[in-house]
Amino acid sequence: MERFVLEDVVAPPTHTADTPLKDWRLKYQAGTIQKNDFTDFFQKQSRKYFHYQYEAEQDATRPSLKCTYNEAGAKEHIINVLMEFVLGDNPKIVLDKLQQEGNTATVCGKVFKNGEPTYSCRECGMDPTCVLCVNCFKQSAHRYHKYKMSTSGGGGCCDCGDEEAWKKDHYCEEHLRGKENPASSTIITDAIKERCEVAFTAILTFCVSFLEIESNASLECLDGDSDDGQEECFCTVLYNDESHTFDQVIQTLTKIAKCRQKDAMEIVAAIDREGRAVVKCDTFSECCQLQEAIEKQAVTTLSALHTPRANQSLRVSVLNIRAVACQQFALQLLSWFQEFLIKHCIFRQIFARLIMDRKAPYCIRHILEYDVKLWKTARSCWHRLLISGMLMEYDNKMALAQEFSKHYASVVQDFIRDDHEHSFSIVSLSVQLFTVPSIAHYLIANEGIFHKLLHTFYHAAVETYIKNKTLQFAKNVNVSFKRAAYILYDLRYILSFKPDVWTDELREGFLEGCKALLKLLNVMQGMESTTRQTGQHMDYEPEWECAFNLHIKLATTITLVLEWCATDAVVLNKLYQMVMRYLSTNVFIVDRVPKREERQVAGHVAECIVYDVASRPVSIHLPLSRFFAGIYLHLGSFGLTFDNAVTGHKRSPEEIIEPILCTQTMIAQVHAGMWRRNGYSLLHQLYFYRIVRCRGEMLDRDIIGLQIGAALIESNQYLIHILNKYNLIKWAQPDYEKDLTAQAVDEEYLLSMIEEFLELLIVIIGERYVPGVADVTEDDRIKKDIIQLLCIKAFSHSELNRALPENINDTPLEDVIDQVAVFKKPQKSDAKGVYQLKEELYDDYNMYFYHYTKEEKSKSEETQRLRRKNKGELVCCPPPKLPKLTEGFVSIANLLQCDVMMTILTTVLDRAIDVSSNSFAENHLQEVLYLIGYGLQEEQSGYYPFLSFHEQARKYNMLSKLDELSRSARVEAHRDFILWTIKKFKELQVQDEEAAGGSEGTMPAEDESVEDTRPLTAAEQEKQEKEERARLAAQRRAKIMAQMQNAQNNFMKSNAEMFASANVQPSSRDPSTAMEWQEDVSMLHEEGAVAYNSVACLGVERRLQQPEEQSFKCILCFEDCTVSKDGPTLVYSAFVQKSKVLKPETKYEYSVHTSSCGHVMHVDCWQEYYNNEESKEQRRPHRGRQPFQQTPQSTEFQCPYCRCLSNSVLPICAPLSKYSMPLVFHKGDELFPIDMWIEVLKTLGDELSMPALEGNIDRVLPPAHSILSRANLYANIAQFERIAQPIDKVELPTSWTNYLQHYIKSVRQHSPIDFETSEKEGLLWLWNTCIYTVQALEVYLRAVGKPFKSEMSIRHKSCLSGLIRASCLYGINLTCTDVKNLKEPAAELLDTIFKQKGNSVVEWNCFNMMVQMICMVPNLIFSSSQKAVVANGSIMDFYAVQLFFLANMVKAIVLFEPSTSHSGMEMDVDEEYDQEVKQLPQKVRDNIAKFYRKYNFATRRQSCTSAQQLGRSRPQPQTPPKTEETATQETQSTAEPTADAEALMGEYIADDEFKAPCDLSTIAALYDHIKMEMREFLRCCCLFFHFITEVEFPDELSYTASDTYENMCKYLGLQTGLETYFDSEGCYASILEIFASHPDIVYCDVATKKKRCGREFAVVPCTRAVPRLVDLPEDFSDLINSVSDFICPNSEREEMKTPTMCLVCGKTICAQSFCCQPELDGRTVGACTYHAHFCGAEICVFLRVRDCQIVYLGRNKGCFVYPPYLDEYGETDQGLRRGNPLRLCPTRYSKIHLSWLGHGLYEEIARLNDNTSVVATQWHHM
Ligand SMILES: [Zn+2]
Ligand SMILES: [Zn+2]
Ligand SMILES: [Zn+2]
Ligand SMILES: [Zn+2]
Ligand SMILES: [Zn+2]
Ligand SMILES: [Zn+2]
Ligand SMILES: [Zn+2]
Repeated sequence: MERFVLEDVVAPPTHTADTPLKDWRLKYQAGTIQKNDFTDFFQKQSRKYFHYQYEAEQDATRPSLKCTYNEAGAKEHIINVLMEFVLGDNPKIVLDKLQQEGNTATVCGKVFKNGEPTYSCRECGMDPTCVLCVNCFKQSAHRYHKYKMSTSGGGGCCDCGDEEAWKKDHYCEEHLRGKENPASSTIITDAIKERCEVAFTAILTFCVSFLEIESNASLECLDGDSDDGQEECFCTVLYNDESHTFDQVIQTLTKIAKCRQKDAMEIVAAIDREGRAVVKCDTFSECCQLQEAIEKQAVTTLSALHTPRANQSLRVSVLNIRAVACQQFALQLLSWFQEFLIKHCIFRQIFARLIMDRKAPYCIRHILEYDVKLWKTARSCWHRLLISGMLMEYDNKMALAQEFSKHYASVVQDFIRDDHEHSFSIVSLSVQLFTVPSIAHYLIANEGIFHKLLHTFYHAAVETYIKNKTLQFAKNVNVSFKRAAYILYDLRYILSFKPDVWTDELREGFLEGCKALLKLLNVMQGMESTTRQTGQHMDYEPEWECAFNLHIKLATTITLVLEWCATDAVVLNKLYQMVMRYLSTNVFIVDRVPKREERQVAGHVAECIVYDVASRPVSIHLPLSRFFAGIYLHLGSFGLTFDNAVTGHKRSPEEIIEPILCTQTMIAQVHAGMWRRNGYSLLHQLYFYRIVRCRGEMLDRDIIGLQIGAALIESNQYLIHILNKYNLIKWAQPDYEKDLTAQAVDEEYLLSMIEEFLELLIVIIGERYVPGVADVTEDDRIKKDIIQLLCIKAFSHSELNRALPENINDTPLEDVIDQVAVFKKPQKSDAKGVYQLKEELYDDYNMYFYHYTKEEKSKSEETQRLRRKNKGELVCCPPPKLPKLTEGFVSIANLLQCDVMMTILTTVLDRAIDVSSNSFAENHLQEVLYLIGYGLQEEQSGYYPFLSFHEQARKYNMLSKLDELSRSARVEAHRDFILWTIKKFKELQVQDEEAAGGSEGTMPAEDESVEDTRPLTAAEQEKQEKEERARLAAQRRAKIMAQMQNAQNNFMKSNAEMFASANVQPSSRDPSTAMEWQEDVSMLHEEGAVAYNSVACLGVERRLQQPEEQSFKCILCFEDCTVSKDGPTLVYSAFVQKSKVLKPETKYEYSVHTSSCGHVMHVDCWQEYYNNEESKEQRRPHRGRQPFQQTPQSTEFQCPYCRCLSNSVLPICAPLSKYSMPLVFHKGDELFPIDMWIEVLKTLGDELSMPALEGNIDRVLPPAHSILSRANLYANIAQFERIAQPIDKVELPTSWTNYLQHYIKSVRQHSPIDFETSEKEGLLWLWNTCIYTVQALEVYLRAVGKPFKSEMSIRHKSCLSGLIRASCLYGINLTCTDVKNLKEPAAELLDTIFKQKGNSVVEWNCFNMMVQMICMVPNLIFSSSQKAVVANGSIMDFYAVQLFFLANMVKAIVLFEPSTSHSGMEMDVDEEYDQEVKQLPQKVRDNIAKFYRKYNFATRRQSCTSAQQLGRSRPQPQTPPKTEETATQETQSTAEPTADAEALMGEYIADDEFKAPCDLSTIAALYDHIKMEMREFLRCCCLFFHFITEVEFPDELSYTASDTYENMCKYLGLQTGLETYFDSEGCYASILEIFASHPDIVYCDVATKKKRCGREFAVVPCTRAVPRLVDLPEDFSDLINSVSDFICPNSEREEMKTPTMCLVCGKTICAQSFCCQPELDGRTVGACTYHAHFCGAEICVFLRVRDCQIVYLGRNKGCFVYPPYLDEYGETDQGLRRGNPLRLCPTRYSKIHLSWLGHGLYEEIARLNDNTSVVATQWHHM
């Protein structure tokens, strides 16, 4: 049967099978399946998923192109079909089963995306390239070790499970499980394997043939396969290269391709990301035309960059649209294939077998070689495929490594010729292969890779620059040199691991490589040599960087090679011979047979090599000599010596050290000033010669070289050689001084050369912390470096790390540091912790330490002298004890006692004594003392039996000379050092005497003389100490003066508040004066019984306090000035900004905030200052384009005193009580009651909304009495006036009014509505900003937890008092226009409050409405009576407070959620409250319960559900009678509830059965809740009325958390108890009822909390929480992981390059990227700027996650701020350069939070940009 069916279907040759799958299966069964069956299918299908379309926008001539590729479609219809063929009908199930069977991968191999975090373990990683992915890291033991974190540049992979990458803990938990599972699988059957092979072959074939840029193959295979008669469509594709800038390409696109700027930018972004983009789709000829045009254009516009493709056109190609589609699909297929291979090792085996087939078109060789022909993404896809397919199994890896090595040379040459970044080239795979030790060793032994790398490098980069057998780089080296340098990194990888076992092959391979290395070093010996310039200066600065770059890149390799050869005698010996051979033939400085001359000093003769450094070429590059020095160090450990190691021809020691000595001489001459005409190039070289990055294979090796010389050459001769080179032979002769007059010697040069010479001797003798020279270890060497560094100053961890050589050895640096230093934790939150040297190690200080720069030397010396002085020791820096020399180097100690040395030492001492001597400088003496000190220390150590320095010195009478010197005034500064030396001498003498049995009384004369000096020196010493003290004190003073000068700005700033507050006259603070005044007032009111103990600022029996007389000094003219009603106008400088810190509750999207530094100026002084600043600003040349024009009126300026950012001024006014003295009422006084007052206001509301008033301009409003009479209260007019306290209109000073208007204008400029519209609402904007600023400050003070009665900062105080007073005062001068403008808002306000029009209390911001009412309404009442009302804490103000207090209470009750009341849990209420509630009268309690049940949303919801549960169907009272009106009009809702509804309500409430419980505990909880919810309102009121009434806060409000409900009510004169408000007799209950019975509340749908009109309540919480910034994770790596796969919203597959988190809202944004550049006000801006515009009203706080950097970003301005993440040393790590684990520092974060909450961001930006003169950052692109 089967056979029959089969035949039947297969028979027709055409594709009649209904699905491809069936077709394939049939063919497979028949054995006829071929890869073409698949590739044809891919080709045909892929076209279906690639679309393009032109969108002609407004401009039809410039259509924009949108190309889309439907990945999901292709996945479903092509890839899934293929999967079904391979795995059977249900591929997903098969894969799941595979997963269950156990993940058979034992290595992770996860390929990193760009920006993904990686972790390396500093304890276990074999080298720093060994990394883990997040998942593995979190499951591995390394998370408890010392680790580093960094972000991947993309392309590497996780090394988890690679046994060669880790010393221990090779597997994470997951991959350990993988290891335990069998590698075979029962699921993958042979049939599957077979089908895999077929499918894989097809995939590889397809991808290989389609992905090339110059896609000949793809064009061919598309021939004759055109679509159904349609016209063929082609694409012009533009490719990425590194030689064109973004702007160049954008320009080309807009000009030639006529793209719009925006599209061009998108295309460029795509090219940068993916490596190419389609720019046009059209006919073949059209596309080709564009191609030509672009190519032509680009050539001409290019700058001459030195890249291989420089002066080349942009790369463009024209492709058939089907080819483009195939390519897109091929990319997708490769990515999918890569993921598929990860799923099982059997898949990888098949894959590996396939690509190892050398004859296949897709063999490894082909993949390696055609890499360069691909564009970026295509390359990455292949790289990932190779990593996933070949690196997970060792055998495959080895196979790949072998192939890779075989083709290394050609692949690298491709890379050098190419212009893509290294990470986008297949050569970057080397790090995966060469860092595996066993593979590296195998490749060296069997593939000759070491030699191959060097040979390739030599050939590709070096050969062309060789002239006369030496490298000479041209001024501009071409780019291929730089690219070739990547080979040197590979070299480093290959050699990273010393072999444990040497095989013959390995030796051979290694030595072969060394030969190539020496060949290179040979041409480097003497490269870039220079000759001393005499006469003219150098014409041009010679090139020097190139040679140093070469050195830096090669240095590690050299060090590694030396380490390798130290492990094997055979290799060492062979290599040593090789070096010697090269040295013998290299003739730089030393000819084959050098010329020699005899020189004589102190009776010793030496044959010196003739080479004049001052006139012949010398070079700083001597790698061959240094390599020799490196190798020589290891000879000793194998019993080899200079004499027995080489048999054949060899250089003598003199010849070997000659080049080094010449270089040292040159350096000395440069220091002496003899090479001044050679320019900076030489100075740069000398600088690099000793910096930490280079010195290891430069300076350090040179000194070793000279030490080798000292060990091999006879001491006296050795010194003569050096003297001769330094041209000091004559100087060393005893009769030198006599001849001096006859000779013309440049003294300065000479003195300096002597100094340099002596210092060199000190270094040669003393620098022994090198294994091989002395008995020390590598650790000792690092320790010495650290000790010397810490002698300069205390270092922070990062500073120390930077100052030390990169550690190639694996001892964690911290261990070494901890041995020598103590870590001092930071004292302040923003300081770093530092390391301090352990006390006992200060004796190791060596002031001539060879790694010190001149500055470091003098600084450390100063520190040490001071330290010793403080301890009462001799003030000098004697030499330290030295470690023991190794056997090969013991002759160095002999240098100290040889005749020539003794002659030199005594000569200098003699000349120091001889005051007439010209060839002496103080430094010489110090150096000679140092050498003597070494001699003494060395002898004392007893290491060298031959050494008897003391004995020698006696012959030269050294002690008596020293003694004489100790009395010399000429060298007074060194007296302590001399004394120290004499003391040492004596110690040795005693030692000697003891040794000799103490019989001989040696040199009594000398003894005596020294004794003589003792008392003298003690006196002298005291004197000297005094002088020294004086000197240091003077120094300190000078330093402090300088510091003060520098920090003047800061100083002023930090003390500004102190200065300013000091100006407030203290006299008025005296409490007695206030009391008196209080008395006076009470006298005025007849009744003497004023409650003095009242603390209230409002209400009946309020307190009166005389306001402080404020006087200031104008900060501009320094005149004293007092604030008064009619004095000169004074202003604060102020800063007005948009703000969204508090969520806006108004109809506007943001509010306006005002701040001030509180500095006071005359307004005229300010105007003059401002005009000056403005014209200065205009004269300043504008740097770059200003993307956002600022309105001219709001030009920013700085406060002239504290440089605080400002943009306006706020006029100051006198205390309000100066305008209107408040009346005090007493208990029992007859008062105009609150309910009548409400009636008046209601009536006023009616009047205001009367349309009849429209036309009447003269009498805009009826006078107050007519309003009262209309309210039927005319009789009480006098009483009403007593509570309202109208005053006669006061004329405010014109300049005050003018500047207040100026201020209001600034506020309007920042207001959310346009400037013209806001003019009408000018006053409202003043009040709005006042309200917002009070609220913002309330929240801020709440956040910092500052009690009310504590010194408020001058900034806050002046800002609030200025704003509040101005807001209250400005209303008294209402013009007719003002009144007209205010009419409408006032009517709306009153209607909302009293008539249930508009929103209910739930949506009110009570404080906001209260202030509006207080400022606006009273003046409207009296506007036509020519009277005015100044808010002063009158009873009317008090009524307003009470009114909104009640409103807020209603809101609290309505919104109360009794959270646990019914779960049977105990209510969390204080006993105290319980008690208080129990004492309430039953009636009040009932009232409360009734009110609560009636209005509280939660209770109503509950009874509603219980009613439903009981099955009672009853009319839903929540459903309101819906009318058209209610549905449409939200704000002006119908007034009274209809009778129907009322009835329903009644019925509903009356039904006891559904009553929610309201027992005592509920009431107690409710009461507690009310108290809590009242906080914000009360706090705002306290602040507000404090500044209106000037009544001081009582003591109750002076401690933290004292702002309780009771205390604040007390201050505001309010009753606290609920009985007052819920007494049905009282007036308050009815007010509560008015607010609560708003239809929005009554008809609220309690289940959904929607209003009757169906809209959501915009609930304004009674007390808002302090706005916070986003919660950041404790561990920074969590944060970086969380954004690692954020995808740019504008491109489907690309990760964000700079994910940036808005800390205000938590959104992550694709910042600073061409892909995300939205338009804002007609200009493209960065995504962060755009986000900030909406999220933070133009300013936000951002965290750039990958850089670990905080940005404050405003419009077109910004600054970087230290991030809140710190490492364990208390340091931040911007840019993750160090990679230490980072933790969140809450203190730092809260600092950022407070800057934001306190509206301080703009100021911070201004401050940081003021201090730094950095290159302007393009903030708007952020
Ligand atoms: Zn991993
Ligand atoms: Zn793992
Ligand atoms: Zn570890
Ligand atoms: Zn002034
Ligand atoms: Zn200021
Ligand atoms: Zn983006
Ligand atoms: Zn945001």
